[in-house]
Amino acid sequence: MEYPGNLFVIAAPSGAGKSSLVNALLAQDTRLQLSISHTTRAPRGQEQHGREYYFISPPAFDAMVAADAFVEWANVHNHRYGTSRQSIADRILAGTDIVLEIDYQGAMQIKKLFPAAATLFILPPSWEELQARLIKRGEDSEDVIALRLKNAATEMAQAPHFDFVIINDQFERALADLRLVVQAQRLRYPAQRRARPETFEALRLP
Ligand code: 5GP
Repeated sequence: MEYPGNLFVIAAPSGAGKSSLVNALLAQDTRLQLSISHTTRAPRGQEQHGREYYFISPPAFDAMVAADAFVEWANVHNHRYGTSRQSIADRILAGTDIVLEIDYQGAMQIKKLFPAAATLFILPPSWEELQARLIKRGEDSEDVIALRLKNAATEMAQAPHFDFVIINDQFERALADLRLVVQAQRLRYPAQRRARPETFEALRLP
């Protein structure tokens, strides 16, 4: 499928600092917009319907799957999460750059559908740090943390399949790396061609 916007797919095990990094990235780069996923899990802390996620019931999720309303969806930590066609289609066709903050299964599905998408994997600096961050967050019960740590091993094993790897040891450095990837993606020939048509036409380039 041809589309004018750039697509960035960011995955990480929970506790790697993905959401903080993505939020900082979005705050600094107004050309990027986050895709809001649907999930069957309950809201945590201050999360709001329509802001972090669309929180929906399992039957409502089933109905969306049956209606082919998702570009990708996956089971993560015993809940289902999906990217609706609606959340990306209109904006990407309008030329907006979109960030998908999803798990590795979804990332691979997106890469298959949109080979020009940039896939990024965020790693924590160590196992100890990952565990410490999950406990410090204080939003999950002990058994949920244990499940997330177990899943982190499976998730991190997928890092070799991603285009870029960001190691979140120092927040500011990881954020700078993230911005570099976004910038590099915007410098690819097709992206530049779309962004600066007059230059290419004046230079008689295709
Ligand atoms: P959390 O419950 O901590 O918000 O998210 C759990 C995991 O689900 C994270 O790895 C997150 O990136 C992933 N996730 C969130 N939305 C989606 C989605 O739409 N599709 C897929 N495949 N994974 C998602």
